[in-house]
Amino acid sequence: SPNKTPETQIDGNLLIAQSLFRAGVRVMFGVVGIPVTSLANRAVSLGIRFIAFHNEQSAGYAASAYGYLTGSPGILLTVSGPGCVHGLAGLSNSTINCWPMVMISGSCDQKDVGKGDFQELDQIQAVKPFVKYSIKVTEIKHIPGDVKTVLSSCVFSRPGACYLDVPTDVLHQTVTESVANELLTVSDQNQILEETLANLEVGKAASVLRNAKRPLIVFGKGAAFARAEDSLKRLVDRTGIPFLPTPMGKGLLPDTHELAATAARSLAIGQCDVAVVVGARLNWLLHFGEPPKWSEDVKFILIDVSKEEVELRKPCVGLVGDAKRVLDRINLEIKDDPFCLGRRHPWIQAIMKKAKENVSRMEVQLSKDVVPFNFLTPMRIIRDAILAQGSPAPILVSEGANTMDVGRAVLVQTEPRTRLDAGTWGTMGVGLGYCIAAAVASPDRLVVAVEGDSGFGFSAMEVETLVRYQLSVVVIVFNNGGVYGGDRRNPEEIGGPYKDDPAPTSFVPGAAYHTLIEAFGGKGYLVGTPEELKSALAESFFARKPTVINVTIDPYAGSESGRMQHKN
Ligand code: ADP
Repeated sequence: SPNKTPETQIDGNLLIAQSLFRAGVRVMFGVVGIPVTSLANRAVSLGIRFIAFHNEQSAGYAASAYGYLTGSPGILLTVSGPGCVHGLAGLSNSTINCWPMVMISGSCDQKDVGKGDFQELDQIQAVKPFVKYSIKVTEIKHIPGDVKTVLSSCVFSRPGACYLDVPTDVLHQTVTESVANELLTVSDQNQILEETLANLEVGKAASVLRNAKRPLIVFGKGAAFARAEDSLKRLVDRTGIPFLPTPMGKGLLPDTHELAATAARSLAIGQCDVAVVVGARLNWLLHFGEPPKWSEDVKFILIDVSKEEVELRKPCVGLVGDAKRVLDRINLEIKDDPFCLGRRHPWIQAIMKKAKENVSRMEVQLSKDVVPFNFLTPMRIIRDAILAQGSPAPILVSEGANTMDVGRAVLVQTEPRTRLDAGTWGTMGVGLGYCIAAAVASPDRLVVAVEGDSGFGFSAMEVETLVRYQLSVVVIVFNNGGVYGGDRRNPEEIGGPYKDDPAPTSFVPGAAYHTLIEAFGGKGYLVGTPEELKSALAESFFARKPTVINVTIDPYAGSESGRMQHKN
């Protein structure tokens, strides 16, 4: 009728934002531009925080880490074509680390596909190797259902990345508000995929464990993702079995626990006869579970949410399911017929003795104040400053070759999910993205990055992002003038017309990285002595403002490729 006001129209941009909000999304990371700027603005207006980056690669790393830290999918928004391609870094990193994330990319108008449209790319094809699942939204009515599907697929079973492709024409289509509400309500009722615990050989696992002479519990970032810390604690308390965390498993139980076998790693994995491996793959990081690092006849009890993973490793006992739920079942089983190794058990004695020896040997090196700095002296000072923060413990972000290797051994993790590092792929350049994700996910915690100058350089412009959002992040750059430090070439290897170029491993010596953040109003420090470092840490940890501490390290300290020299 002529006096009836026309109903409000909802476009694709708003409907996506509404669908995300209804599904619980409160944070997005990304880079805006054609055709997704309005989508980001709509999301913000609904109450979703949009963290705008300089580069989709860093934003993608942030989304992946956010998914890991919070347990809910991290969202990455990108433009079409090149934006989507830059986003592949985050997408692949997410899937390889088993972290849930969804990349949403705009794409060109469906009617212009194949004609060379602006930023045209077959994005569904491009993401294929890196995702669990992808969907192209072909019309506005599919938006709520498709959003729900990618969000739930990425957390289902083994977490990973999913992709949602939104063509420009779909973003611009409209439906009336009442149709939109109806679509949203229908998708609200979509069944959330849920894991069922199949018949588990819990009895067998408990009996193998009970009969072990030298048992070990190994746990990784899958157990951290599952928030299995209380269940692990119960198992360790009840059985007295020593444990070994993988790098990102560190902190699920405190590194300072007397049954921590971290400092006796080679002995623990080389001599254990039964290893319960929880949420950690027996991949290169764990020497494939094979000799010579592991003994020939070690029996594995493998707990993993992924059936494929368990089938691949052919363990003695495979328990497919969520780490926390499976551990709770094992704990119940053991409770009925308890056993505990006790501190005087020869295996426990051997591990504790070895760990003590290694720790005191390391402490001797650590206690020296070496100037110009090697890696150990500043790492000790940073360790002590982090520990002095108490609880809630800072989140540590770590990358680099020597910096990460030394940091893993020296820095102490006391709380779960407080360590983010280069991960399963050894990805360099994740640091700033991870810092931003950690600060956004845990505003109550200080975030401290300890990274090499090379790792930092991949995404150094994101220090502006730290300043813009005033995130509580202190980035400590171990500046040794390059990848692995100075020019380590044998003079006989240097020749040819470009022999006078800097070595491929070298950067400008003495680079003033601290001034980079000052360009945006952040705080920078240049330090080269223990006193200077201590004072910069004290000030910046107290201020909790975006900071870069540029630590001058002897360019010839450390070794090329860290501990991975044999592969380079
Ligand atoms: P790390 O690098 O710490 O060794 P990995 O990334 O190699 O850990 O392994 C993590 C494993 O955890 C993956 O195989 C993944 O399938 C598994 N996983 C992920 N979520 C869960 C969960 N909720 N319960 C059990 N296992 C999980």
